[in-house]
Amino acid sequence: MHYGIVGGGVLGLTLALRLVQAGQRVSLFEAAPAFGGLAEGWQLADVYWDRYYHVIAGGDAAHLALLAELGLSDRVQWRRTRTNFFDGQMLRPLNHAIDYLRLPTLGLLDKLRVAATIIHASRLTDLTPLEAQTAQDWLTQLSGARGWDGLWRPLLRGKLGPNADVASAAYIASVIRRFYGAREGAAKKECFGFVEGGSTPLVAALVERLCAAGATLHVGSPVSKLWPSPGGGVCVEHAAGRAHCDRVLATCPTPLLAALCPDLPAAEAERLRSLRWQGIVCASLLLDRPLGGAYMSYITDDRVPFTTVIEMSSLAGSARFGGRHLAYLPRYLPTDAADFERSDEDLADGFITGLQRMFPDLRREQVLAWRIARARHVLAVPEVGHRDRVPAMATGVDGLFVVNSSQIVDAALSINDSVRLADASAARLLALI
Ligand SMILES: Cc1cc2nc3c(=O)[nH]c(=O)nc-3n(C[C@H](O)[C@H](O)[C@H](O)COP(=O)(O)OP(=O)(O)OC[C@H]3O[C@@H](n4cnc5c(N)ncnc54)[C@H](O)[C@@H]3O)c2cc1C
Repeated sequence: MHYGIVGGGVLGLTLALRLVQAGQRVSLFEAAPAFGGLAEGWQLADVYWDRYYHVIAGGDAAHLALLAELGLSDRVQWRRTRTNFFDGQMLRPLNHAIDYLRLPTLGLLDKLRVAATIIHASRLTDLTPLEAQTAQDWLTQLSGARGWDGLWRPLLRGKLGPNADVASAAYIASVIRRFYGAREGAAKKECFGFVEGGSTPLVAALVERLCAAGATLHVGSPVSKLWPSPGGGVCVEHAAGRAHCDRVLATCPTPLLAALCPDLPAAEAERLRSLRWQGIVCASLLLDRPLGGAYMSYITDDRVPFTTVIEMSSLAGSARFGGRHLAYLPRYLPTDAADFERSDEDLADGFITGLQRMFPDLRREQVLAWRIARARHVLAVPEVGHRDRVPAMATGVDGLFVVNSSQIVDAALSINDSVRLADASAARLLALI
């Protein structure tokens, strides 16, 4: 069969690999000038690293297996990391039980309830019953109102921005599982992995394998239309021409797919369009000083225009960045937020001013370089009832399939889950032959 794949992010590339490995013919179409999607690298001054930050958690078995398959295991490094918490006054460590006990915003009983919540959530195996409840209701029930306001809400805002208030309990339970799973040993010390060079070696190795296996890869070639071919299969119009495929797999976000295929049944197109996604504006900063030394610093102060400080150099080591420090400042937003239209200079100015609120001794000249990344569609909002709205793989157009990250349920968006989805979807497609 000839498969067409729309999107050359980790999901599309891994799907393509599984299909060529099974002897199928594959043509892949990527709109951007380079492969990788959200995992693409870029240049910041003389540093080449990910446009968005990526770490590997200990439980990311599918991601680690793919790295091994591609001969990249020896590039994975593991480090103990730390987490901080900015409460509007100061950065506080949040690593050990004793740190929680010291948090001034929570009373002793709240802290014990928070600790019990973490242990409870990390042991849950079936998250389905939590789909019907908001994270706010569930966590308030378990940790109390102060636990929600003082700890859980800021942590969720770090992942979902304003959508924190509509997130399902299943989503936060999956995040706790992933991050608690990153803590090792009896002392539960946080430990994350990274690939030397960021996500670029993975993307490059996937592309190399695909080329060697004879896949046709189009880059800088957005698909503009998909329609059923009268003789069977699906026609693909893309920047470099037209192709006919027996099956087309769309890995792009659902609202974009709805716009690409006018032949989708109206009700289905409406369902794809109405699935709510969230986007991100994220600054990458190269600094001549560290920002607290933790990999993640969560922020409760609403005046700071980003929700977390991610200090990549605290994980990967500043020597890798020429003795400088690489940090990311993410701001999660609805896809139609006005911030997407603001200039890079304006956004960077607001972000650096926000950073100075957290670090009053930070001088502008200590920010040696910055860049702003934007993506309107990062993940489908994991709101209550999301599982029921997940699109089925087969669509109403014969031969057209959806395989995208909105189908990842009970998990935080990660390369691991993209790889798992690719593996499972390829197996299902091959079984359909
Ligand atoms: C801020 C941030 C932090 C993250 N942190 C981590 C982390 O620490 N660890 C981790 O494992 N994961 C992390 N992730 C998640 C990880 O990056 C994603 O899970 C993964 O990259 C998603 O891959 P994808 O292929 O599903 O989507 P995408 O990467 O979005 O790929 C979709 C592709 O489709 C293309 N496309 C869209 N429309 C068209 C069209 N019409 N024609 C052709 N192509 C089209 C796009 O250009 C894009 O390349 C993070 C993501 C973000 C944004």
